[in-house]
Amino acid sequence: MDNCIFCKIIRKEISKELSFESDTLVAFLDINPSADIHILIVPKEHIGGMGDIEEKHGGLLVEVYETVKKLVAEYNLENDSYRVVVNGGKAQHVPHLHFHLLGGKWYKFI
Ligand code: AMP
Ligand code: ZN
Repeated sequence: MDNCIFCKIIRKEISKELSFESDTLVAFLDINPSADIHILIVPKEHIGGMGDIEEKHGGLLVEVYETVKKLVAEYNLENDSYRVVVNGGKAQHVPHLHFHLLGGKWYKFI
């Protein structure tokens, strides 16, 4: 998707320090954090949103949650509080499926 901001980050047309990268997804810090730790986990495939998830994405979804586990350990969140949030409809502002990992204290509701 030519004009998608997350696709541009994935294609490295926009420079972004990545917290994690695999063949199928990237993770990076949210530019406008809503919590002490706010990481976006983003599939490399341009999937518009939750409504576009199909059976073939099953393995990818498992990988998303494996990445959550990795990042939770890396950011020492096991004994703190953390959540994974996926916005949809009018609550979703970037139309490329992504998972918010929010840890520690929340500043605002996303
Ligand atoms: P949502 O409302 O669920 O679509 O969330 C989109 C998130 O992407 C927001 O929390 C934004 O702060 C974040 N965001 C938008 N552009 C960038 C960017 N260039 N780098 C990092 N995070 C971004
Ligand atoms: Zn995209």
